[in-house]
Amino acid sequence: MEVLVLGSGGREHAIALKLAESNKVTHVYVAPGNGGTAKSHDKVSNLDFDAVDLPKLLAFANEHKIELVVVGPEAPLVVGAVDTFAAAGFPCFGPTAAAARLEASKAFSKDFMARHGIPTARYGNFTKYEEAVAFVESADFPVVIKASGLAAGKGVLLPTTKAEALAGLKEIMLEKAFGTAGDEVVVEQYLEGEEASVLAFCDGKRVVLMPGAQDHKRALDGDMGLNTGGMGAYAPAPILTPAIRAKAQAILQRTVDGMAAEGSPYQGVLYGGFMVSKEGEPVVLEYNCRFGDPETQVLLPLLDSDLAEVFLACIEGRLSPEIVRWKALAASTVVMAAKGYPEAYPKGMVIEGLATVQASEDGQAGRVTVYHAGTKTGAPGEVLANGGRVLAVTGLGRDIADSLAKAYAAVRLIRMDPCHYRTDIGQRALRGPCP
Ligand code: ATP
Repeated sequence: MEVLVLGSGGREHAIALKLAESNKVTHVYVAPGNGGTAKSHDKVSNLDFDAVDLPKLLAFANEHKIELVVVGPEAPLVVGAVDTFAAAGFPCFGPTAAAARLEASKAFSKDFMARHGIPTARYGNFTKYEEAVAFVESADFPVVIKASGLAAGKGVLLPTTKAEALAGLKEIMLEKAFGTAGDEVVVEQYLEGEEASVLAFCDGKRVVLMPGAQDHKRALDGDMGLNTGGMGAYAPAPILTPAIRAKAQAILQRTVDGMAAEGSPYQGVLYGGFMVSKEGEPVVLEYNCRFGDPETQVLLPLLDSDLAEVFLACIEGRLSPEIVRWKALAASTVVMAAKGYPEAYPKGMVIEGLATVQASEDGQAGRVTVYHAGTKTGAPGEVLANGGRVLAVTGLGRDIADSLAKAYAAVRLIRMDPCHYRTDIGQRALRGPCP
């Protein structure tokens, strides 16, 4: 079977390599892909189409008799990639545009949670600036201000004073700092706790959880610096004890039940971003309608099943826990970024040492994988940096400590100048279970 994957990040490289392991899969096309999907596996290659150019992608799928389409990032989901491919008869993994509103509209997702009794921060949704101001003025809790639409992870403000909150509202609603994403704003209660991600495969009716994961959003060690797309991740995260996972599972199941009841059955990956309180109660901060990046780079290496089979089971409504088996191992990933990211950063640096990692004992045994994100191919044999987050280096080990040691040993073999990575990925997990 030939598969088409939409996207260009480390997440899509991880999806493509996992699909390539399947005996059923003869080739994986990634549109537009990156330097890694271009050359790291002979069953994987790139297509020079934008991931939201649906007419071109559909024409390609028809021409090549594609038997499975997988949508990686949110942008194609929101413009209806799954609706388009499904209407043309292609099995397509991911939620429809209507179901993806859980991510595309924070206002929709908050109202949805309220309708279905799903635990989330107290909130108000506003399209009128004056009403949002009045709500903030009278709120008796510290608030978080969120542009409702997609803002590439940047549309959330965490003000420390009321004055800052009011300035944030002005910036989003009047000055349109995030464009139309800020036409509607969610103002919600600031929650204390520890964040953790629980992702699940869904087939419209059932949910099957993946191991719990945690990522590191801040650019610098000690969770300092600016927010980024994610500087590293690990799984299984010790904070997600069986009891907390059971609660998260019930919440995700209620979400899928609610979407089905409202006429938008949810098929694909449902990503619950939770705040876990000191008392061990998971509360939903946000939903994402797709795999996380970099969580995918630790979750898929732990999957023991055929990923194509899992995707098809979701699409065909026959998902069961037996189909989704996991290795009793741990994985950690360290993101190597261009120095300066998430602000201005250089591109075009030559990346050296990738072949050394691949030829190392851990590389050969599949205990270390270098997933590419912002890379492109250069002169023959050359890989160049082409984005903020450049590589995600994943180690697979018997526990988190072992997986971290493998990931960092590989990071030290890779050279890219100038480069930045965090040196404290996974330290939270090593400190033992919280809360
Ligand atoms: P991303 O998709 O990058 O995770 P996003 O823009 O969709 O981000 P959220 O996940 O809702 O937005 O918020 C981003 C971050 O802001 C969260 O990861 C969390 O650290 C913080 N945050 C959001 N809501 C709250 C809240 N109610 N209380 C405390 N912190 C919050």
